[in-house]
Amino acid sequence: MSQIYDLILHNISLASFHFESKDDEINNPYGIVDNPVICIKDGLIAGIFNADDPLIDKLETENSIDGQGQWVTPGLIDCHTHLVYGGNRANEFEMRLNGKSYEEIAKAGGGIVSTVKATREASKDELFKLAAKRLSYLMDEGVTSLEIKSGYGLDLKTEQKMLEVAEELNQFSGIEISKTFLGAHAVPIEYKDRADEYIKLVCETMMPELHKLGLIDCVDAFCEGIGFTIQQTKRVFEKAKELGLPIKLHSEQLSDLGGSKLACEFNAWSVDHLEYLNCDDIKHLKTSGTVATLLPGAYYFLSETKLPPIQALRDHDIPVAIATDSNPGSSPCLSILLMLNMATTLFKLTPSEALKGITINAAKALGIDNTVGSITKGKQADLVFWDIESPAELSYQIGGNPCKRVIKKGKVIINKNQ
Ligand SMILES: [Zn+2]
Repeated sequence: MSQIYDLILHNISLASFHFESKDDEINNPYGIVDNPVICIKDGLIAGIFNADDPLIDKLETENSIDGQGQWVTPGLIDCHTHLVYGGNRANEFEMRLNGKSYEEIAKAGGGIVSTVKATREASKDELFKLAAKRLSYLMDEGVTSLEIKSGYGLDLKTEQKMLEVAEELNQFSGIEISKTFLGAHAVPIEYKDRADEYIKLVCETMMPELHKLGLIDCVDAFCEGIGFTIQQTKRVFEKAKELGLPIKLHSEQLSDLGGSKLACEFNAWSVDHLEYLNCDDIKHLKTSGTVATLLPGAYYFLSETKLPPIQALRDHDIPVAIATDSNPGSSPCLSILLMLNMATTLFKLTPSEALKGITINAAKALGIDNTVGSITKGKQADLVFWDIESPAELSYQIGGNPCKRVIKKGKVIINKNQ
């Protein structure tokens, strides 16, 4: 019996990011499929045919889209964001540019402390509205899956509130949100000089409680001189392991503490930032299958000059993801397309590497690469249509937004062609 599809896409150019083998990936780095017709059924890719196939005339469908020659890529994935928070830090940014010192800014209540205060004070509704607005900019550029971390509450009540807002966005935004518990983001002021006691609260109260509520998909920490030590990070990971939760880590952003090596011992989904990653530690990423997530927005906004070890990551064939790290302090970024540009101009990734970083490799960094991140039979029909002549334009162009249509689980959620 012939299948009746829900939707058929034709007259498109396709960068699928699906690779049959390593050789295939090397020879065809965008996973380009010639002359494709994509058939969608029940929210999934049911088949990809060649438009010259005589069978095409026999395909039955409820609906079809003439792509007018536009390029189609997988739905974009932002695998590292801190999108839920109260207030913003534009005031502090302005003070700094007016020559105020860090001490003066801290005295005026600046820094992460100000975000924690604003997030604690904000109602769930206020946080939802602020985050939904930020999310709308990313969705407008073709983002169909995204991660949100907690970490501006630093107490059980507010961490729960942040993760519940992330879950509401998951239910109401039309896209999928992964929720990451980042209780070990910073030491709250009430625990000043008592970081070990705070870690105890994170491990013995916050993580088990929030896990019981089903609010944690993954556990993260900030392993850094201004964050938590290797020993403290290890306690967080051990607890996550005990609860059966996957982990990822902010590591080697400002110094080399060996956080990435530790994270790999716990089979981390990803290690993120990595400007100071020691080349000797890259082999551990290979062994554990961990993704290296690079965050060019933070590198740029903090005027960092030390580059992550890009060539060594390449030499070891480590999957590299790119993300906005959208947050009020070090990367107030709401454009994933700008990250493509920065990944190529600042980090010298090739345009295909950069795009892989926000599709298939970003999916790996969130443990969702079985269902999204590339366009192939059986995966979710998450697709973006672009008004461009080649995929490299997405990295090349600065500003503007060539996204014309977004399909999530087989449904058109954005259409700017009309
Ligand atoms: Zn971050």
